[in-house]
Amino acid sequence: MAYSTNTERRKILVVGAGLAGLSAAQLLQQSGYEVLVLEARERLGGRIWTSQRWADAPLDLGATWIHGAQGNPLSVIARSISAAMLQTRYDRSVTYGPTALVMSSKQEDHLDSLADAFARALHKAQKRDVDQSVRAVADAWSISARLSRQDQNLLRFILLGRYETEYAGDASALSAHWYDDARAFPGEDALFVKGFGVLAEYLARDLRIERNQVVRNVNWNNRGVQVQTDRGEFSADAAIVTLPLGVLKAGVVHFSPALPAAKSRAIQALGMGVLNKCYLRFEKAFWPDDVDWLEHVPPAGLGWTQWVSFVRVAGLPVLLGFNAGQQGRDMEALSDAAIVASAMQTLRSIYGAQIPEPLDAQITRWGSDPFALGAYSFNALGAQPAMRDDLAAPVGGRVFFAGEATMRRDFSSAHGAFLSGQRAANQVTQAYSR
Ligand SMILES: Cc1cc2nc3c(=O)[nH]c(=O)nc-3n(C[C@H](O)[C@H](O)[C@H](O)COP(=O)(O)OP(=O)(O)OC[C@H]3O[C@@H](n4cnc5c(N)ncnc54)[C@H](O)[C@@H]3O)c2cc1C
Repeated sequence: MAYSTNTERRKILVVGAGLAGLSAAQLLQQSGYEVLVLEARERLGGRIWTSQRWADAPLDLGATWIHGAQGNPLSVIARSISAAMLQTRYDRSVTYGPTALVMSSKQEDHLDSLADAFARALHKAQKRDVDQSVRAVADAWSISARLSRQDQNLLRFILLGRYETEYAGDASALSAHWYDDARAFPGEDALFVKGFGVLAEYLARDLRIERNQVVRNVNWNNRGVQVQTDRGEFSADAAIVTLPLGVLKAGVVHFSPALPAAKSRAIQALGMGVLNKCYLRFEKAFWPDDVDWLEHVPPAGLGWTQWVSFVRVAGLPVLLGFNAGQQGRDMEALSDAAIVASAMQTLRSIYGAQIPEPLDAQITRWGSDPFALGAYSFNALGAQPAMRDDLAAPVGGRVFFAGEATMRRDFSSAHGAFLSGQRAANQVTQAYSR
């Protein structure tokens, strides 16, 4: 299928209409290229996905927050389109201990000092020559620090709630050397009143996007690129591939010639994590209405540890629970009803058996989503940060790569995806303006 009759302008195909693909396509189109985006899904945005199921409450099933609003390129766009933003605050939080009672300030201080001591142990591990998993460091530290049974349980909570939920990788897979190698912007975390989707919609404006085109093959030679989908074939001078790391790992898209060895090694070695969301909507809030974050230390180390309340920020009686790492993967196999029952079991242990059933729930399964196969990438044991540069490296001056996983210092984020698209578009511009 020829997508253009204009032979003057360079033609560029962009695979994937997530933030990386949309940002690349937008910049190239503005620079005068003829751009066509091929997207497997019916919807745009990829891991940006605002659900409109509750008409009065657009909620994000993928990314929610612009992390660190100061200096973040997404804040600049949000301001330019006058998108209304809200701020959740980590200092507005409550922590429930294993007995389900609110932790006293003494107990919270103890939890914080344990978390700090573990962070120091990880920091020391980062100075050793041989890398270990975050869990291996935790296990060794638990023994050397002679943690009591109660503190071992607190440590499990710290791993689950504060490491796996943030980095999405299982603690046994996260590299102690590199898990926290992403840069952070300063400032509060901000979320969109109408959902992150407004940003994807803005970037998608005026673009030519073919939806429901599942790319199967990317073939290139010194004359150009051919992309085959389940519905047709497209040719161009060059292509920008923004497939999620999970999709690249699965090998469901074939490259011919085969990808260089360094890129294949990076695809194998980098980790694709899981973070899932479960929104529960109630008639009215039965939890404190002045906090944004609710933390729970489960008595046996497993369970729902992190919740966000939308009461204070948005006036909605909605709780959002997270599941990450292996627990997140395991939970995907359960039915919606079983996931809600599991979440409600935790909430009942905190707030009492009498709390009502939710009116409705919205649940994600990013690990089994065929066009994501995970939530975002992490630095796994055995991977090196430089592998992200290998993942990003263009092939043959014809196939360029973008996507959050290709960003050495901005992986796992929406701003990283956006910036990767800008980088790939600039690479194309440099290659084809000669
Ligand atoms: C639950 C969750 C919470 C998150 N929270 C945050 C947060 O609060 N803040 C933050 O900054 N980041 C967050 N992130 C990360 C952020 O959403 C991602 O880093 C970013 O959206 C990735 O964009 P991308 O363009 O690289 O990939 P994607 O958005 O995945 O885009 C890739 C596109 O390729 C398409 N595709 C896949 N396979 C094919 C194929 N064979 N053919 C054609 N098209 C294909 C996909 O459908 C998709 O549209 C979160 C992610 C998740 C899942």
